[in-house]
Amino acid sequence: MRMTQSFIYTTKETPKDAELKSHQYLLRAGYIQQVGAGIYNLLPLGFEVLENIKSVIREQMNASGASELSLGFVTPASLWQKSGRFEKYGKELLRFKDRKDQDFVLGPTHEEAIVECVKGRVKSYKQLPLNLYQIHLKFRDELRARFGLIRGREFVMKDAYSFHSSYEDLDREFALMEKTYREIFDSLGVEYAVVEADSGAIGGSGSKEFMLLADCGEDTLLVCKDCGYASNIEAGKRKKKDYPQSTQAPAEISTPSLKSIDELSLALNIPAYHILKCVAKGVRMQEGESKVAIFFINGADELEETKAYNAISKIKSSALELYDISAQELESKGYCVGFMGLGCKGDFVVFDEEICEGGVYLSGANKSDTHAYIKVDSMAHRADLVAVQEGDACPCCGKPLMHKKGIEVGHIFKLGEKYSAPMGATFLDVNGKAQNFIMGCYGIGVSRLISAIAEQKSDERGLVWESGIAPYECMIMISNIKNDSQREIGERLYKKLKKDGVKVLLDDRDERFGAKMTDFELLGIPVGYLIGRSLEEGKVEKIYRKEMRKELIDLAQILGE
Ligand code: ATP
Ligand code: MG
Repeated sequence: MRMTQSFIYTTKETPKDAELKSHQYLLRAGYIQQVGAGIYNLLPLGFEVLENIKSVIREQMNASGASELSLGFVTPASLWQKSGRFEKYGKELLRFKDRKDQDFVLGPTHEEAIVECVKGRVKSYKQLPLNLYQIHLKFRDELRARFGLIRGREFVMKDAYSFHSSYEDLDREFALMEKTYREIFDSLGVEYAVVEADSGAIGGSGSKEFMLLADCGEDTLLVCKDCGYASNIEAGKRKKKDYPQSTQAPAEISTPSLKSIDELSLALNIPAYHILKCVAKGVRMQEGESKVAIFFINGADELEETKAYNAISKIKSSALELYDISAQELESKGYCVGFMGLGCKGDFVVFDEEICEGGVYLSGANKSDTHAYIKVDSMAHRADLVAVQEGDACPCCGKPLMHKKGIEVGHIFKLGEKYSAPMGATFLDVNGKAQNFIMGCYGIGVSRLISAIAEQKSDERGLVWESGIAPYECMIMISNIKNDSQREIGERLYKKLKKDGVKVLLDDRDERFGAKMTDFELLGIPVGYLIGRSLEEGKVEKIYRKEMRKELIDLAQILGE
């Protein structure tokens, strides 16, 4: 491609609202263009990168035996009503009506669509297993679309769905997909971690995430350097903490204006772990009204919100989400904010598993300016609610855990019969009996990867792509376009590389040399050939973008003469 014929435009100005360097560079180098909140055009350079990432994914998915298809982006709501998600899925699901007043959704994920596609076609266990995937658009009306392509509203996902006649066979495919994903992310040349992930109310170890390691990542990971344990904090475990028990006798004490754990611990000179932390959250219910959930955890711990939600949804499956409830809302419901504690009545009350039955804790006494040492003797609901902290002991080997930040770029999940059962999707087993399909699903954030890779691989000058992902493998820069011999050699090299099948960009613009170099650095193309002053000695300068290493190459050698 000749720069003078291309749609490549770079800018010097750092765009407003672009916090991350990946976002800034992708905008400045003309890879992407914002259309609306969380909606982007991929310009030719961005499109090339997307296609390259797709090819890597496709190659490995096909090698694993999966087949590619393409499902409708606009999905009839009737499918989502069958699975129950039309009502349950939050505002991220864009619902709309057509001219005939029929309900539709823009697919944020396609479990319903694939079940409907396979149902009735695959009739016998003999046609299983099956793995179907697509690389297609998704729409999620994200509350906080940000970071360029990392959290978009419209984005490209690779989503695969597998169908099995037994749970053992699902386990086999899950392991195969993990291996396939490792190959994909290895080929992309990124630094990543595979972590245990939240499996929702189902629980168990049926979910793993692929996290690209980056400081800007929205996910917190727990990593054990010693034994390799790695988990998303949402599902993270730790070795049970053995907090020494309080020996206080049960008694009420006056604690005017002492509301927080820190204030209490300091004023009463007791460790935080002798205090019972009471966290109230609002729960939005499918039925329409909202309820109050009370979580009791150790005063030295923090509540992990995903675990907290899972605990509630296990008690009542129509709980849609937790929200931060205001002091006013709590007060209007009769709660004594700041002094809530054991005995306070919530619609849901859950204790952390590490709260000791029969132990004495300082707790709010549910009346103003008062706390009490109380014995915990009945806990109706218990669950792991704790956000594991850095330094807590690894659940596998006991060594201290570390926190890392990651961007979720892939997720593999054992669905079991979650969709096939409500949608009545069955096959006939060996005995001729109808059974629900046993399913797995496997996602990769394809457009997110463009930004995530750019974040991990860029430097202070601009983007740095690995070859294979880069929009062009090399770029020829003619230092002075008015110099006839420079122009002639540049053209010859361009034609030679193109003939050899190399994806090459020729900077044939009438621009200053400095501007060309700056653009080369910003665009992140792996190799540059500079046709400039060294031509007088019969040489061309080859520049490796990653290290900015330069070497002189004989003209004859590079032109293959
Ligand atoms: P997140 O926790 O980041 O919101 P998710 O767990 O909701 O993601 P999945 O439903 O697991 O996402 O979707 C599969 C993959 O799609 C994710 O691993 C991620 O890489 C990508 N993805 C999800 N949401 C977005 C988005 N808003 N923009 C771009 N990519 C996304
Ligand atoms: Mg996910």
